[in-house]
Amino acid sequence: GTPLLEVTDLRKHFPVHSGLLRRQVAAVKAVDGVSFSVNRGETLGLVGESGCGKTTTGRMIMRLLDPSSGSIRFEGQELTDLSQRRMRPLRRDIQMIFQDPYSSLNPRKTVGSIVGAPFHLQGIETPNGVKKAVQELLELVGLNPEHYNRYPHEFSGGQRQRIGIARTLALKPKLIVADEPVSALDVSIQAQVVNLLEDLQDELGLTYVVIAHDLSVVRHISDRVAVMYLGKVVEVADQADLYTRPMHPYTNALLSAVPVPDPNVRRDRERIRLKGDVPSPLNPPPGCPFHPRCWKAQDICAQITPPLEEKRTSQQVACHFPEEAGAAPDLIRKEGS
Ligand code: SF4
Repeated sequence: GTPLLEVTDLRKHFPVHSGLLRRQVAAVKAVDGVSFSVNRGETLGLVGESGCGKTTTGRMIMRLLDPSSGSIRFEGQELTDLSQRRMRPLRRDIQMIFQDPYSSLNPRKTVGSIVGAPFHLQGIETPNGVKKAVQELLELVGLNPEHYNRYPHEFSGGQRQRIGIARTLALKPKLIVADEPVSALDVSIQAQVVNLLEDLQDELGLTYVVIAHDLSVVRHISDRVAVMYLGKVVEVADQADLYTRPMHPYTNALLSAVPVPDPNVRRDRERIRLKGDVPSPLNPPPGCPFHPRCWKAQDICAQITPPLEEKRTSQQVACHFPEEAGAAPDLIRKEGS
């Protein structure tokens, strides 16, 4: 069937102006031709270092930012040319979970009024009706429904993220864009919140795009993972393939930095230390954007931008010299056995 979300060749270029006449002199290519799709009930992890364009992509899906070009289809409907008014009913269907559970909750409001705020949109308006609905949501996210009258500061960081999730669920969304949903939390709490998101997905049939800066966070929750670098998707694959046989050198480098020893993650190499920093999206390198840092780069890499192409079933890579591209499936199996 149609994917729930389909993003095609999405771009966001922020103009840079200079001089008295404020002429546009350049553009920051924050998102530069991103495509992916997410099926109903699936989780796509969107991973990359800060500045790679993942958050800008999330904000465009939420329609908090207008794309410069490209297409965003939700249930087959093009969102990029909808007016704000026609977008309004869809806003309920697509909700966002934010990184910082501290700043995204109004400290002067009780949990009941924070989580209950969206309910008038659904026609649940009597105080008792709202209270009951809020208490059900609090229970759903693992909080004590009796804590309805407490304020955000009375909760721990993990509990506050649960409050944020409860508020998001009040509108019964179909798609949730979670921007670094656990990176502000203690490591010991992160797994609990990820598990909660997974349980809610099973229970409510939710679809997620989970944005993260490292591959360890999205590993367990993702069905597929897209790796971004300098405004482009450099590799997309099923979770198991991406973590066990990555084909893009950048994915390999990110994976070599995954801290938790895990027998299923390839550990047959040293940690890859990339040279230099991520170049500025104001002046991205020509050809493959990764070439100044890539240990496999050849002359062609500085000249021709590799397109994102399927190199193995369901594994798309933007690289002229992807790893293991030539290996026959039976050879790979032999290596693994
Ligand atoms: Fe490295 Fe070249 Fe592949 Fe880019 S295209 S990742 S520079 S090998």
